Amino acid sequence: MAPSAAPGPLTALVVGGGVGGLTAALALARAGVAVTVVEQAAALGEVGAGLQVSPNASRVLFGLGLEAALSALAFRPEAVEARGWRRGQEISRAPLGDAALRKYGFPYLHLHRADLVSVLGQACEAEPHITLRLGEAVAACPGDGTPALVLASGERLEADVLVGADGIRSLVREALFGPAAPRFTGNVAWRGLVPAERLAGSDVRPTAALWMGPGAHFVHYFVRGGTLVNFVGVVERDDWREESWSSRGEAADLRRDFAGWHPTVRRIVEAAPEDACFRWALFDRDPLPRWSRGATTLLGDACHPTLPFMAQGACMAIEDAAVLAACLSGRAARDVPAALERYEALRRPRTSGIQAGSRRNATIYHLRPPLSWARNRGMKAGLGMGAAMDGLYRYDALSAAG
Ligand SMILES: Cc1cc2nc3c(=O)[nH]c(=O)nc-3n(C[C@H](O)[C@H](O)[C@H](O)COP(=O)(O)OP(=O)(O)OC[C@H]3O[C@@H](n4cnc5c(N)ncnc54)[C@H](O)[C@@H]3O)c2cc1C
Repeated sequence: MAPSAAPGPLTALVVGGGVGGLTAALALARAGVAVTVVEQAAALGEVGAGLQVSPNASRVLFGLGLEAALSALAFRPEAVEARGWRRGQEISRAPLGDAALRKYGFPYLHLHRADLVSVLGQACEAEPHITLRLGEAVAACPGDGTPALVLASGERLEADVLVGADGIRSLVREALFGPAAPRFTGNVAWRGLVPAERLAGSDVRPTAALWMGPGAHFVHYFVRGGTLVNFVGVVERDDWREESWSSRGEAADLRRDFAGWHPTVRRIVEAAPEDACFRWALFDRDPLPRWSRGATTLLGDACHPTLPFMAQGACMAIEDAAVLAACLSGRAARDVPAALERYEALRRPRTSGIQAGSRRNATIYHLRPPLSWARNRGMKAGLGMGAAMDGLYRYDALSAAG
């Protein structure tokens, strides 16, 4: 009797070429899986602004061999600090920089999203087990978990496993679990990038800076090696429902929203390019009870879209990618549905906790007196951001699957 042929490598279809999908493709390919990524955008990494990438995520990215490429583009903040919106008094401060490196073994990075996606995209292009299909939208996939999809062109693709990394309005999530609109959180984020030379002479420090005010907060930090300052100004309002990296708002409205704030905040807002002040309505979802069905699963914002108030959305997508790849490697790959069950069982408690914590921060950051005074006292007394985030940053996604 002829010996049976050795099974070929596992094959995967990844829907979405954002931070989550591209990291998953790389991690899966390194685990011996042949991956096809389908991304509707014609080019990778053209949109977006800043991203804080904490040590729990830089650990994964460096593990994929991206340390040199990312270090050349990143900015390493020396601390994370919280201040009062009007007087600018320091409420809490925790060191990052070399201290984070010593503590966690991996750095805290500030990156332009386009730079991160480009680095991931180039690494995928250099990987023989990855096929990138750009400019192709997925139109449908089966709801029963069969790992297949249909492109808008009508072409059908099949594999051993299907991963929906297609963002908050995931078509794969809807196919598996039915339609359910995300929840508008009542918060709208202004965001923009200011060339650092426009802020010469200001006291914008090399930190991850958070200014907390009544019903609003403002975050800023350097990206692209310190040449740009990224800002995100979040206000509670109900009159904007668009989610897009390219929906512009009026610079005058941005300035009005932060009139009366500390001069450093006003300086950044006033230096923002008139034609490049963007607005993003912030949506999230309650934690999903399930992410997988059969040989199909979800990853990143597709399964745990989160308010950005712990700066962990992309970091969680990166962690998902590492754990998914570990669950699908080696012998485990023979039973794909069981491997996917294991993946989501390992990941759901952590991501649900971060979703809840990010919602809590929306309330905490925006408190009004007298509750804001109690908050400030608590943060000063050591219940600050450093303490709260310590456990999160220590998480090792590379060994979470054993
Ligand atoms: C203002 C703001 C600030 C943030 N700051 C941080 C931060 O500092 N740190 C952090 O970790 N996170 C941050 N986040 C969260 C982070 O942006 C997201 O969590 C992250 O982008 C999710 O990545 P993803 O790959 O899961 O989804 P996405 O980035 O949404 O990528 C999904 C991809 O799928 C593609 N796609 C969708 N549908 C289809 C289809 N049918 N066919 C083909 N392709 C499709 C899309 O084109 C897209 O490229 C922030 C978010 C916001 C709004």
